[in-house]
Amino acid sequence: KLEFSDLSMEFGNLTALSHVSARVEDGEFISIVGPSGCGKTTLLRIVAGLERATEGSARLNGKQITGTGFERGYVFQADNLLPWRTVLGNVLIGIEIRDGSRSRDEIAKALELIRMVGLEGFEGYYPRQLSGGMRQRANIARALAINPEILLMDEPFSALDAQTREVMQLELNRIWQHGKKTVLFVTHQIDEAVFLSDRIIVLARRPGRIREVLDIDLPRPRDLTTK
Ligand code: ATP
Repeated sequence: KLEFSDLSMEFGNLTALSHVSARVEDGEFISIVGPSGCGKTTLLRIVAGLERATEGSARLNGKQITGTGFERGYVFQADNLLPWRTVLGNVLIGIEIRDGSRSRDEIAKALELIRMVGLEGFEGYYPRQLSGGMRQRANIARALAINPEILLMDEPFSALDAQTREVMQLELNRIWQHGKKTVLFVTHQIDEAVFLSDRIIVLARRPGRIREVLDIDLPRPRDLTTK
């Protein structure tokens, strides 16, 4: 369970988040939407441990979030795969940074994740040999490789064309169902948020407050796949 309580973030005299409180249950898919500059990325970076809130707290399973956040899987807007590493090498990078090495089991698990995101056969390819959609699949596998308690995604599909984006939304929904991970998903597209989420946190511009939290009660892919 993830809990924000009275969270505020200031950069100098700029307020990026102001008294944000919210609760996210395990396994929930939550989207965060709102106008540019409303603090969406800041909220994710606090959960990732990349920023420290100036006030209030963010807790994951009762523990204050601190540190650099390697335990949280982060998928960035721009794909940031290492160009000199293969898909497998990229998926293993988080484990190598964390442990200094990788075990045979971890390699086997990385290969399994690569299969799960639909990149079987591309393990030895370099990022430049892949399409944008495939690169984001590799990014998702990399985020999952460290077995994060929570998956953080900052507009992961915004650089993709409409058709690839749709495919990746379905794919993410499938991965989410399979893994039952908590997901925090930042997007500019409300239709994408409605399609994927259990709930949507709407942030307001200035001074970065929650405007509303929407509970989604529409038939979603999840329901389609269980029928
Ligand atoms: P976008 O949709 O454009 O990505 P966002 O909702 O993710 O925007 P944030 O990136 O969280 O918004 O930024 C919130 C506000 O905080 C913005 O006004 C931004 O300029 C400011 N900000 C973010 N990071 C820093 C920083 N490191 N130093 C100073 N100001 C910052």
